Amino acid sequence: MIDRYSRQISFIEIGEEGQKRLGGSSVAIIGCGGLGSIIATSLVRAGVGRVKIIDRDFLEYHNLHRQILYDEDDVGNHSPKAVAAERHLKKVNSLVKVEGIVADVNHRNIEGLVSGVDLILDASDNFETRFLINDTCLKHKIPWVYGGVVGSYGMSMNIIPGETPCLRCVYHRPPAGNMTSICERVGIIGPAPVITGSLQAVEALKILIGAEGINLDLLITDVWKGTFHRIKISPWKECPSCHGK
Ligand SMILES: [Zn+2]
Repeated sequence: MIDRYSRQISFIEIGEEGQKRLGGSSVAIIGCGGLGSIIATSLVRAGVGRVKIIDRDFLEYHNLHRQILYDEDDVGNHSPKAVAAERHLKKVNSLVKVEGIVADVNHRNIEGLVSGVDLILDASDNFETRFLINDTCLKHKIPWVYGGVVGSYGMSMNIIPGETPCLRCVYHRPPAGNMTSICERVGIIGPAPVITGSLQAVEALKILIGAEGINLDLLITDVWKGTFHRIKISPWKECPSCHGK
Protein backbone atom coordinates (compact mmCIF):
# COMPACT_ATOMS: atom_id res chain seq x y z
CA MET A 1 0.00 0.00 0.00
CA ILE A 2 2.85 2.37 0.87
CA ASP A 3 4.41 1.56 -2.49
CA ARG A 4 1.20 2.37 -4.36
CA TYR A 5 1.07 5.83 -2.78
CA SER A 6 4.82 6.40 -2.37
CA ARG A 7 5.06 9.31 -4.83
CA GLN A 8 2.11 11.03 -3.21
CA ILE A 9 3.45 10.42 0.32
CA SER A 10 6.76 11.95 -0.78
CA PHE A 11 4.85 15.15 -1.55
CA ILE A 12 5.53 16.93 1.72
CA GLU A 13 2.10 18.56 2.11
CA ILE A 14 0.48 15.08 2.15
CA GLY A 15 3.05 12.78 3.73
CA GLU A 16 2.18 9.56 5.59
CA GLU A 17 -0.24 11.32 7.94
CA GLY A 18 -2.15 12.89 5.05
CA GLN A 19 -2.31 9.55 3.26
CA LYS A 20 -3.79 7.92 6.37
CA ARG A 21 -6.40 10.65 6.56
CA LEU A 22 -7.33 10.14 2.92
CA GLY A 23 -7.73 6.41 3.55
CA GLY A 24 -10.08 7.15 6.45
CA SER A 25 -12.19 9.62 4.43
CA SER A 26 -15.49 9.28 2.65
CA VAL A 27 -16.74 11.47 -0.21
CA ALA A 28 -19.83 11.71 -2.39
CA ILE A 29 -19.54 12.86 -6.00
CA ILE A 30 -22.86 14.12 -7.35
CA GLY A 31 -22.88 13.67 -11.11
CA CYS A 32 -20.40 11.61 -13.09
CA GLY A 33 -20.07 13.23 -16.50
CA GLY A 34 -17.06 15.30 -17.54
CA LEU A 35 -16.25 16.74 -14.10
CA GLY A 36 -17.20 13.58 -12.20
CA SER A 37 -14.98 11.43 -14.45
CA ILE A 38 -11.83 13.34 -13.55
CA ILE A 39 -12.75 13.92 -9.89
CA ALA A 40 -13.64 10.27 -9.29
CA THR A 41 -10.55 8.90 -11.01
CA SER A 42 -8.29 11.38 -9.15
CA LEU A 43 -9.72 10.59 -5.71
CA VAL A 44 -9.85 6.81 -6.21
CA ARG A 45 -6.24 6.79 -7.44
CA ALA A 46 -5.24 9.02 -4.50
CA GLY A 47 -6.63 6.43 -2.06
CA VAL A 48 -9.65 8.19 -0.55
CA GLY A 49 -11.21 5.37 1.50
CA ARG A 50 -14.83 5.54 0.31
CA VAL A 51 -16.05 7.14 -2.91
CA LYS A 52 -19.76 7.26 -3.59
CA ILE A 53 -20.77 8.23 -7.13
CA ILE A 54 -24.35 9.30 -7.77
CA ASP A 55 -25.67 9.83 -11.30
CA ARG A 56 -29.00 9.23 -13.03
CA ASP A 57 -27.87 9.18 -16.70
CA PHE A 58 -27.02 6.46 -19.20
CA LEU A 59 -24.02 6.74 -21.52
CA GLU A 60 -24.33 8.13 -25.03
CA TYR A 61 -21.73 8.58 -27.78
CA HIS A 62 -21.74 12.36 -27.43
CA ASN A 63 -20.42 11.94 -23.86
CA LEU A 64 -17.17 10.24 -24.88
CA HIS A 65 -15.18 13.26 -26.08
CA ARG A 66 -15.02 14.65 -22.54
CA GLN A 67 -16.14 11.97 -20.05
CA ILE A 68 -12.79 10.22 -19.78
CA LEU A 69 -13.89 7.42 -17.47
CA TYR A 70 -15.97 5.67 -20.14
CA ASP A 71 -15.51 3.78 -23.40
CA GLU A 72 -17.50 2.60 -26.41
CA ASP A 73 -18.46 -0.66 -24.69
CA ASP A 74 -20.21 1.33 -21.95
CA VAL A 75 -22.25 3.15 -24.59
CA GLY A 76 -22.96 -0.11 -26.45
CA ASN A 77 -24.13 -1.77 -23.23
CA HIS A 78 -26.36 1.22 -22.39
CA SER A 79 -24.62 1.35 -19.00
CA PRO A 80 -25.74 3.82 -16.38
CA LYS A 81 -22.78 6.14 -15.72
CA ALA A 82 -22.72 5.28 -12.01
CA VAL A 83 -22.48 1.53 -12.78
CA ALA A 84 -19.80 1.94 -15.46
CA ALA A 85 -17.83 4.31 -13.20
CA GLU A 86 -17.87 1.81 -10.32
CA ARG A 87 -16.78 -1.02 -12.64
CA HIS A 88 -13.83 0.92 -14.09
CA LEU A 89 -12.68 2.45 -10.81
CA LYS A 90 -12.68 -0.84 -8.90
CA LYS A 91 -10.10 -2.05 -11.43
CA VAL A 92 -8.04 1.12 -10.89
CA ASN A 93 -7.79 0.78 -7.11
CA SER A 94 -9.24 -2.26 -5.35
CA LEU A 95 -8.33 -0.79 -1.93
CA VAL A 96 -11.02 1.88 -2.27
CA LYS A 97 -14.66 1.18 -1.53
CA VAL A 98 -16.30 2.54 -4.68
CA GLU A 99 -20.07 2.65 -4.78
CA GLY A 100 -22.02 3.71 -7.88
CA ILE A 101 -25.62 4.72 -7.24
CA VAL A 102 -28.09 5.26 -10.10
CA ALA A 103 -30.33 8.00 -8.73
CA ASP A 104 -31.78 11.38 -9.51
CA VAL A 105 -30.71 13.54 -6.57
CA ASN A 106 -33.68 15.47 -5.17
CA HIS A 107 -34.89 17.04 -1.92
CA ARG A 108 -36.36 13.74 -0.72
CA ASN A 109 -33.27 11.54 -1.11
CA ILE A 110 -30.24 13.82 -0.81
CA GLU A 111 -29.86 13.65 2.97
CA GLY A 112 -29.88 9.85 2.90
CA LEU A 113 -27.45 9.72 -0.04
CA VAL A 114 -24.83 11.95 1.57
CA SER A 115 -25.25 10.80 5.16
CA GLY A 116 -21.88 10.17 6.83
CA VAL A 117 -19.65 11.61 4.12
CA ASP A 118 -16.83 14.04 4.94
CA LEU A 119 -17.07 16.03 1.72
CA ILE A 120 -19.33 16.44 -1.31
CA LEU A 121 -18.09 17.21 -4.80
CA ASP A 122 -20.48 18.90 -7.17
CA ALA A 123 -20.14 17.44 -10.64
CA SER A 124 -23.76 18.02 -11.55
CA ASP A 125 -25.02 19.83 -14.62
CA ASN A 126 -27.71 22.10 -13.20
CA PHE A 127 -28.19 24.80 -10.59
CA GLU A 128 -31.26 23.26 -8.95
CA THR A 129 -29.06 20.36 -7.82
CA ARG A 130 -26.28 22.73 -6.75
CA PHE A 131 -28.62 24.81 -4.60
CA LEU A 132 -29.92 21.60 -3.06
CA ILE A 133 -26.35 20.48 -2.31
CA ASN A 134 -25.64 23.93 -0.85
CA ASP A 135 -28.58 23.91 1.54
CA THR A 136 -28.06 20.28 2.56
CA CYS A 137 -24.38 20.92 3.27
CA LEU A 138 -25.10 24.04 5.33
CA LYS A 139 -27.76 22.15 7.31
CA HIS A 140 -25.46 19.21 8.07
CA LYS A 141 -22.17 21.18 8.15
CA ILE A 142 -20.59 19.18 5.32
CA PRO A 143 -17.94 20.97 3.24
CA TRP A 144 -18.48 20.88 -0.53
CA VAL A 145 -16.72 21.91 -3.71
CA TYR A 146 -18.79 23.59 -6.41
CA GLY A 147 -17.85 22.99 -10.04
CA GLY A 148 -19.40 23.90 -13.36
CA VAL A 149 -18.31 23.92 -16.98
CA VAL A 150 -19.64 25.22 -20.30
CA GLY A 151 -17.86 25.87 -23.58
CA SER A 152 -14.20 26.38 -22.64
CA TYR A 153 -15.03 27.91 -19.24
CA GLY A 154 -14.92 26.29 -15.84
CA MET A 155 -15.70 27.57 -12.36
CA SER A 156 -15.02 26.11 -8.96
CA MET A 157 -15.27 27.18 -5.34
CA ASN A 158 -14.88 25.65 -1.89
CA ILE A 159 -17.80 26.07 0.48
CA ILE A 160 -17.09 25.35 4.13
CA PRO A 161 -20.23 25.81 6.27
CA GLY A 162 -19.75 28.42 8.97
CA GLU A 163 -16.45 29.59 7.50
CA THR A 164 -16.92 30.71 3.88
CA PRO A 165 -19.69 32.34 1.84
CA CYS A 166 -22.03 29.78 0.26
CA LEU A 167 -23.25 29.29 -3.31
CA ARG A 168 -26.38 31.35 -2.60
CA CYS A 169 -24.09 34.20 -1.46
CA VAL A 170 -22.61 34.09 -5.00
CA TYR A 171 -25.72 33.66 -7.15
CA HIS A 172 -28.63 34.54 -4.76
CA ARG A 173 -30.92 32.30 -6.87
CA PRO A 174 -30.44 29.67 -9.59
CA PRO A 175 -29.54 31.47 -12.86
CA ALA A 176 -32.26 31.44 -15.51
CA GLY A 177 -31.99 28.95 -18.35
CA ASN A 178 -31.68 25.23 -18.68
CA MET A 179 -28.00 24.25 -18.38
CA THR A 180 -28.44 21.15 -20.57
CA SER A 181 -29.82 23.18 -23.46
CA ILE A 182 -27.13 25.86 -22.91
CA CYS A 183 -24.51 23.11 -23.10
CA GLU A 184 -26.08 21.77 -26.33
CA ARG A 185 -26.12 25.23 -27.88
CA VAL A 186 -22.74 26.54 -26.72
CA GLY A 187 -21.01 23.15 -26.66
CA ILE A 188 -18.15 22.08 -24.45
CA ILE A 189 -14.58 20.99 -25.07
CA GLY A 190 -12.99 18.05 -23.26
CA PRO A 191 -10.09 19.85 -21.54
CA ALA A 192 -12.50 22.26 -19.77
CA PRO A 193 -13.95 19.65 -17.35
CA VAL A 194 -10.53 17.96 -17.03
CA ILE A 195 -8.90 21.17 -15.78
CA THR A 196 -11.86 22.25 -13.63
CA GLY A 197 -12.40 18.77 -12.18
CA SER A 198 -8.67 18.58 -11.38
CA LEU A 199 -8.90 21.88 -9.49
CA GLN A 200 -11.85 20.47 -7.53
CA ALA A 201 -9.97 17.22 -6.84
CA VAL A 202 -6.91 19.00 -5.45
CA GLU A 203 -9.09 21.14 -3.16
CA ALA A 204 -10.80 17.91 -2.03
CA LEU A 205 -7.45 16.40 -1.07
CA LYS A 206 -6.55 19.56 0.87
CA ILE A 207 -9.88 19.69 2.71
CA LEU A 208 -9.81 15.96 3.55
CA ILE A 209 -6.33 16.06 5.08
CA GLY A 210 -6.97 19.38 6.85
CA ALA A 211 -4.24 21.19 4.91
CA GLU A 212 -3.72 24.88 5.35
CA GLY A 213 -4.36 27.26 2.49
CA ILE A 214 -7.51 25.93 0.91
CA ASN A 215 -8.64 28.26 -1.82
CA LEU A 216 -11.25 30.77 -0.63
CA ASP A 217 -12.03 32.44 -3.97
CA LEU A 218 -14.26 31.62 -6.90
CA LEU A 219 -11.87 30.32 -9.58
CA ILE A 220 -12.72 30.93 -13.22
CA THR A 221 -10.66 29.42 -15.98
CA ASP A 222 -10.93 29.61 -19.75
CA VAL A 223 -8.88 26.75 -21.15
CA TRP A 224 -9.21 28.02 -24.74
CA LYS A 225 -7.69 31.41 -23.92
CA GLY A 226 -5.42 30.01 -21.22
CA THR A 227 -6.68 32.46 -18.61
CA PHE A 228 -7.26 31.96 -14.92
CA HIS A 229 -9.01 34.39 -12.57
CA ARG A 230 -9.82 34.49 -8.88
CA ILE A 231 -12.82 36.42 -7.64
CA LYS A 232 -13.16 37.24 -3.95
CA ILE A 233 -16.68 36.47 -2.74
CA SER A 234 -18.19 38.40 0.15
CA PRO A 235 -20.88 36.87 2.34
CA TRP A 236 -24.39 38.03 1.37
CA LYS A 237 -25.81 39.61 4.53
CA GLU A 238 -29.38 38.47 3.82
CA CYS A 239 -28.44 35.00 2.56
CA PRO A 240 -31.29 32.69 3.68
CA SER A 241 -29.08 29.59 3.42
CA CYS A 242 -26.32 31.02 5.64
CA HIS A 243 -29.00 32.05 8.14
CA GLY A 244 -30.40 28.56 8.39
CA LYS A 245 -33.62 29.23 6.51
ZN1 LIG B 1 -24.81 32.14 1.91
